[in-house]
Amino acid sequence: MCATCGCSGTAVVRLVTADHEHAGHEHAGADHEHAGHEHGSRGDERTVQLQQKVLAKNDRLAGANRDWLRQRDILAINLMSSPGAGKTTLLERTAAELAGQVSISVIEGDQAAALDATRIRAAGCQVVQVNTGVGCHLDAEMVAEALRVLDPPGGSVVVIENVGNLVCPALFDLGEQARVVLASVTEGADKPVKYPHMFRQADLVLVTKTDLLRYVDFDTERHAADVRSLRPAAELLPLSATTGAGMRDWYDWLRRRTAGHHAR
Ligand code: MG
Repeated sequence: MCATCGCSGTAVVRLVTADHEHAGHEHAGADHEHAGHEHGSRGDERTVQLQQKVLAKNDRLAGANRDWLRQRDILAINLMSSPGAGKTTLLERTAAELAGQVSISVIEGDQAAALDATRIRAAGCQVVQVNTGVGCHLDAEMVAEALRVLDPPGGSVVVIENVGNLVCPALFDLGEQARVVLASVTEGADKPVKYPHMFRQADLVLVTKTDLLRYVDFDTERHAADVRSLRPAAELLPLSATTGAGMRDWYDWLRRRTAGHHAR
């Protein structure tokens, strides 16, 4: 995990508005310090202690985010997948087709650039880009700052598009109420077995790019069985954000989840 994978935790919250974009405040995640390149049992022990410290601090901040969101009756969804699984394409189509029905704003996480924020803004959503530098995931502190900049309206939905990565994002609670994992058919069906932590916490798994099923070797039944063995409660929905197939089921899930959230 991140004490050993190279994250240093300097993130830039970049606000993308209708007229311009500007790099915002840098924040150095003080607890994202490295364990360094220590070897031997003492180094291993320190690494474990550091990991626990990092995650404990993150959990506290995630709790504060959850309170902040609850006070405003905002539903936050943590959207995770490997790079290129179609997170941004899904959000572009969702924003366009649910415009006027569901108020959606987006926090975009990438190591660098604001390409995805530019796409989401063009689709009509308020968006904040977080650049994580060498970091491979968003954490609760980054999301807290992004929420302050985004200032989403009460009763709305905030989708947090995490950095494309099936490993570290699974470990970091952001204060979200739902975790949605995308699994594209082009990645192969073996990902739940290889990256179980990601799928074990998923409320919904979207099997994306189904328009490409005819070109790839993807065992849909095996994939579903492996997801269910890790997370029996997870819903699975196949879709293609390119053709639109299956998108209605995703919108129904989003509406149900939004209504259920507001009813609490
Ligand atoms: Mg993206």
